[in-house]
Amino acid sequence: MLVSSETAIGIYGLSFASPSGNHQELTLFGNRTSSILRYGDQLAGRSRYITRQHVLAPDGRHLLRYRWADPHGSQAYRVGVFAGIHGDEQSGVIAAIQLLQHLEWHPLIAEFYELTIYPICNPWGFENGRREGGSGKDLNRCFWLNHEEPEVQLLEQDLRAKQFDGIIALHTDDTSEGIYGYVRGSTLTRHLLEPALQAASRVIPRDIRSSIDSHPANDSMIFGGYQGILGAPEDQHPQPFSIVFETPHHPPLGKQVEAHLVAIGEILSRYRKINSEGRDI
Ligand SMILES: [Zn+2]
Repeated sequence: MLVSSETAIGIYGLSFASPSGNHQELTLFGNRTSSILRYGDQLAGRSRYITRQHVLAPDGRHLLRYRWADPHGSQAYRVGVFAGIHGDEQSGVIAAIQLLQHLEWHPLIAEFYELTIYPICNPWGFENGRREGGSGKDLNRCFWLNHEEPEVQLLEQDLRAKQFDGIIALHTDDTSEGIYGYVRGSTLTRHLLEPALQAASRVIPRDIRSSIDSHPANDSMIFGGYQGILGAPEDQHPQPFSIVFETPHHPPLGKQVEAHLVAIGEILSRYRKINSEGRDI
């Protein structure tokens, strides 16, 4: 069962005051999305380093995104953080928006990075507390397979344009017994996910079963996984690192959010370290 968006957001003390000037835009969204959007937009409004870059198409489609850039002006690595492609998985959405606040407080977390953060990839699902998108399909099985889902097309357009060095997708799994992840993209990915799982296991233990989500798993890692998962276009070279990070659904929401944030911090720190050392893995 999901905690209501209002309750969950209340835990984190987010402000509900409407920033002036965007009332008209907010009417496009329902209550849950608006709450997240208001918080993100307020942060962006106060910050010199966060920019709101929402895409609002004339036909009503929208894609929420924020850009954060290292204040020191050297943005060597471009990483996309995606949450809420499954609309009923709330902890990733809150973690993505909390990440913006953390970056404001501790910019060194993302030194040398340009981050593009997509807190709600499936607005209809998030609004309605549903896994699937507006068409009834699981959007996270539709990428790069010529599907017509507008949410997927908007994200594909962005993934192609941005050619990220790294992709982090946040999920919650109500069948898992602990944190785990999918390893996709470049061979570097497992060397980022393993320490991320290790760090986040201080918050929520790992799922150590040999089969998770009907896939064979090794040390809480699944290699490959489903077709059509949100990720880089296949013809992107070199392929970015691509991590799907999953928290179990049963721990308190605050713990899940914390696990996501710890994992993201560790991934960013490791990737920067590996690159600066020029290590060949
Ligand atoms: Zn999911």
